This record gives sequence, structure tokens and C-alpha cells, in this order.
Amino acid sequence: MNTLKLKKGDTVIVMKGKDHGKKGKIIRTLPVLNKVVIEGVNEKMRHTKARRGGEKGQRVTVIHPVWAANVQVLCPACDKITRVGYESHDGVKSRICKKCKASLT
Ligand SMILES: [Zn+2]
Repeated sequence: MNTLKLKKGDTVIVMKGKDHGKKGKIIRTLPVLNKVVIEGVNEKMRHTKARRGGEKGQRVTVIHPVWAANVQVLCPACDKITRVGYESHDGVKSRICKKCKASLT
């Protein structure tokens, strides 16, 4: 079961590690690994070697996933670092900001 509270499209802030303080949008979640891929965070350059036939070597930016435990959600409604809570309406579970109770889609 997917136990990640983070979802694609969430704006998060990195709390630990070398990207500490960086803010970005989640572009991918990896629930099995408990990791998320965040736009502009943990980017690394990868060099591809030149191949035969005159092709040039290229530099490609690869975004590496970070631990979900090291990031916190930034609420779009109250603009604060918050935790994700859950609210149930007619059996439908929705995510809410624990601070301002706004729903996080
Ligand atoms: Zn909020």
C-alpha cells in the first residue's frame, strides 16, 4: 500500500542534506523506496561519452530522488511548512493541511 503522504504536484521544502532549504515541486513519487523526485533538487550532471560516428558527448542533467522523510510540505493556502493530515467525508479520504485545514489536492 502507498503510505507516502506526499503526492505529485506538492510543493515541498528539503529539511536535511546538501539540498537543505531548497524548495520545489514533486514531479514523481517512489512509494516503494520512500523517495520523491523534486524539480530542481538533487540535480546531477551526467556526461555521456562520445560515440563513434561523429556524435558528440553530451551533458545531461539527471534529477535524483531524495528521502521523503527529509522533506516537508509547503501549504499553498497558508504558505507555511506543514504536515499532511487526513479528513474523511462520506468515506472519501482527503489530504488536508494540519495548520490551516485547507485541502491539499
Ligand atoms: Zn495551510
